[in-house]
Order: sequence, then structure tokens, then C-alpha cells
Amino acid sequence: MSDAALEVHDPFAGRPVVTAFIGVGANLGFARDAVLNALADLSGLLGSEFIASSSLYRSSPVDGDGPDYINAVAELGTRQSAHELLHALQAIETRYGRVRTTRNAPRTLDLDLLLYGDGILKTPDLVVPHARMAGRAFVLRPLIEIAGPIDIPGHGRADALLARIDGQDIERLA
Ligand code: ADP
Ligand code: MG
Repeated sequence: MSDAALEVHDPFAGRPVVTAFIGVGANLGFARDAVLNALADLSGLLGSEFIASSSLYRSSPVDGDGPDYINAVAELGTRQSAHELLHALQAIETRYGRVRTTRNAPRTLDLDLLLYGDGILKTPDLVVPHARMAGRAFVLRPLIEIAGPIDIPGHGRADALLARIDGQDIERLA
């Protein structure tokens, strides 16, 4: 076999790198392990470089019920398009046994594309910034931990949005 045949083909080569933030959450089964393993999966995504991940957080379900969530946010530099990234995230969710029932139903793993550069996208299957992130402390706190007072396009600064949220139970885990 020639050396060339051993090279991994990178279909994303040559595209510009975009900074993307991914929200990771789980509240069923071994939620902490699921979040940690999903962060490892994100670090291996094709066409992407893992930049940072937040601490783990524990939060009570918002507008739902079931056990507490474990949450984190990851930052990637990616050459994938927003939709390619969404499909990659959904493939990871499926591997963790995610069953799609109702919105806010308990889940083994939830991966959300929070921000894709400074892009605003409104399509039937993908809305970026994530439609409900601006009102969720479990997204904004870990995001601010790694990104600082970042602007959420169309919503305002993450720290100002977080300050407006009342009564959501969240704590950073040691
Ligand atoms: P949530 O994460 O708000 O609790 P779900 O994970 O249950 O909601 O919703 C999944 C659906 O949301 C998917 O069918 C997907 O197409 C859609 N969706 C729209 N925008 C996004 C996004 N930015 N990230 C992930 N899923 C999204
Ligand atoms: Mg989701």
C-alpha cells in the first residue's frame, strides 16, 4: 500500500475555521459519565479542533421534571457547516441512546449547537443562536466560564442575560 492510501481524507480541509459553542446536558442514567464521554467525543470530531470545555454543573430541570441535570459547554474551532455540526451532534446523541419524545423530556444526552461564530440562522431544523439559550442559566454560566461576557447575536451579552434570570437552581461541581 502506498503512503497516500494511508492518509485520512479530510472532507473539510481548506474551509475557514468557525468558533462554535456546544451545550452538553444529561439527566438520566450515568449523567456525569455521559457528559464527560460526550466532551471526549466532541474533541474527536472530524474537521474540528477542541478549544475548551467548562467545569461540570448540576442544575434542576427547567420547565420539565425528572432528575437533576449535569451540564457543560464546549468550544470548538470547526470547519464543518452549522448543519453538518448539528448532524454530527445528533449522531452522538443517538449513540448514547437518546430517544426523542417531547421537548424538555428527560434525556440520556442533549447536545445543542449554541453559537456558530457570530451567525444567525433560522431554518426548520436549526436555529442559531439556540432559541432558548438566552433564558437558561445552565447554558449561560458554563458559557461565560469559558468565553467571558460574549455577545449572543440577537440577544445581547451573556452576562447581562444571566443577571436577568431568576430562580434557576444551578451549582458548579468541584
Ligand atoms: P432542547 O435542546 O431545546 O431541549 P431538543 O433537544 O429536544 O430541545 O430539540 C431537538 C430539536 O431541536 C432537533 O430536532 C433539532 O433539529 C432542533 N434544533 C433547532 N436548533 C437547534 C440547535 N441550535 N441545536 C440543536 N438542536 C436544534
Ligand atoms: Mg437539544
